[in-house]
Amino acid sequence: MMSDIIRLLPDSVANQIAAGEVIQRPASALKEVLENCIDAGSSDIKVIIKDSGKTLIQVIDDGCGMSEKDASLSFERHATSKIHSAKDLFAIKTLGFRGEALASIGAVAQVELKTKRKEDELATCIQIEGSKVKKAEACQSQNGTNISIKNLFFNTPARRNFLKSNAAELRHIVEEFQRVALVNPDISMSIFHNNKPLLQLNSGSLIERIVAIFGKQYKERLIPVEQKTSEITITGFIGKPQYAKKTRGEQFFFTNNRFIKHPYLHHAIDNAFQELLPQDSFPTYFIYFDIDPQRIDVNIHPTKTEINFQDNQLIYAILRSTIRQALGKFNITPTIDFDQEQSIDLTYFRDKNKPVTNPFLKKDSGYNPFEQSHSSLRNKSNRSEWTELYKSIEGKKTETRSNDIDNSLIPDDSHENSLENKILFQLKNKYIITQVKSGLLLVDQHKAHERILYEKYLKRLEEKKSLSQQELFPQNITLSPSDADILIELEENLKILGFNINQLSQNTFVINGSPAGTKIENTQEFIEDMLESYKSNLVNLNLEQKTNIARAMASKVAVQAGTSLNPEEMAGLINDLFSCQIPEYSPGGQRIVKIIRIVDIDELFKK
Ligand code: ADP
Ligand code: MG
Repeated sequence: MMSDIIRLLPDSVANQIAAGEVIQRPASALKEVLENCIDAGSSDIKVIIKDSGKTLIQVIDDGCGMSEKDASLSFERHATSKIHSAKDLFAIKTLGFRGEALASIGAVAQVELKTKRKEDELATCIQIEGSKVKKAEACQSQNGTNISIKNLFFNTPARRNFLKSNAAELRHIVEEFQRVALVNPDISMSIFHNNKPLLQLNSGSLIERIVAIFGKQYKERLIPVEQKTSEITITGFIGKPQYAKKTRGEQFFFTNNRFIKHPYLHHAIDNAFQELLPQDSFPTYFIYFDIDPQRIDVNIHPTKTEINFQDNQLIYAILRSTIRQALGKFNITPTIDFDQEQSIDLTYFRDKNKPVTNPFLKKDSGYNPFEQSHSSLRNKSNRSEWTELYKSIEGKKTETRSNDIDNSLIPDDSHENSLENKILFQLKNKYIITQVKSGLLLVDQHKAHERILYEKYLKRLEEKKSLSQQELFPQNITLSPSDADILIELEENLKILGFNINQLSQNTFVINGSPAGTKIENTQEFIEDMLESYKSNLVNLNLEQKTNIARAMASKVAVQAGTSLNPEEMAGLINDLFSCQIPEYSPGGQRIVKIIRIVDIDELFKK
């Protein structure tokens, strides 16, 4: 039998460990347990959540498991197999290292732990309730550890009441899960909530993991980042500027495989993206730092995700330059001087006497790719005519980085510009097709309408301008308890969009009004579908509430494929589309407009 590996930390070390509550909410329990699974060398981790973790957080791993003795010890405070002296605290590269997590969890929940090493015949089963051992016996279980944390804060009602809504707690849970998933792409991981799979991630490369979490559109949206210096290694991905988010969403820093927050370094990225982003949008990034642990000041407060680099300024400069370089390589910043950028001279930064200036960028780069396109579209009224449409698209000609829309999208002849003369037709009741100078313009009608509505709703939500119609007969709907919670949470914003909602009892509501201009045939179904996509947006995309609602509503209300449109409707749709801020892509990032160029059509007839 292998020697037992957990030791009790000496008091002196224990005292060096910042005190504080380890477990504040279901998500913090999940984080601790997941980190233990990683430390145990697992290759497959399954997470089962009930009621946003309030009822159950179960995590099953196939890692090294524990001996009978270690299993009982593991719930003792400052029991850890991972650290023997204070010095180790700073050198430690594993995730958990305080020996506090299981003890804290065992103190505030009903915990059942089943664990088995592969060299042991039998597993050990331990039940703990409010720090009291209720059961400890041999049992049958597979190799690895299976821990169930039930009724968190059952013995501290104040804490339990302090928890946020189910939707909010679930969001925290998914966030923690994602953070762990993003540093362990080689581990297959899945998470289920109330028996529904939220994420099922196969093992694979980092980019595969990102795509599996955030959607396949990310494949073409990301640019790799790589920089190896003697100080630090930086790897990861950044989002192309044109896909920057309206909400602060996918922004991740990891240091030595731990998620961290670092506002100062965040600024370095913002700064590198400077001029490339439209106003009020945020760059996407997944940045991984690898650095000698001696060079970090870790605040070992258990719940802090903040760390500091000893030489923050140096890291700032390296990071900023690395990002510029990555953007430059992909021709996103055409004004960058590559040769200079690639041969980063670190000694330059090290010389503390020299002021840190920016040696890389040409100062006169007044280049703003958005000046010609989005910002000019932004001011267009919805009633723009075809001429305007073409003008605005023509504006894209000068947008050097855009390959999304054909540059030669210019009208054939000026007399063809008026709406009446444009022939629009519908293909399969799905695509609207018309002629432009360079060829055929195809527009996906559903996605186009989604984009139009999305921007309209979002604007309304931001300006808090309510537009309701009392056209509906009051409709009663009944929802599941968790959906009812969400509906209440969204009520204010839904009101702005025109829904007039009154709660009748716990799970029933009466809907008195609907958004102006929206036909809703089945209110119950409409609300359910809307909540469904709201939830999936929340889990998969972590969208901010307004954006999420706008998106969920737009996708529900938008004209579906298969709907026949008359010429005025088609023209209206096209006009409205090109008055949008981002007419090329649906809110979900899918292409709306495509041009089949005449040269490509000619090619078809050459054989
Ligand atoms: P720490 O992770 O800081 O050591 P914890 O309280 O999280 O402290 O865990 C205590 C100990 O229990 C760990 O050091 C480890 O030896 C053991 N342990 C916890 N979870 C697992 C697991 N899933 N697989 C194997 N061992 C585990
Ligand atoms: Mg731990």
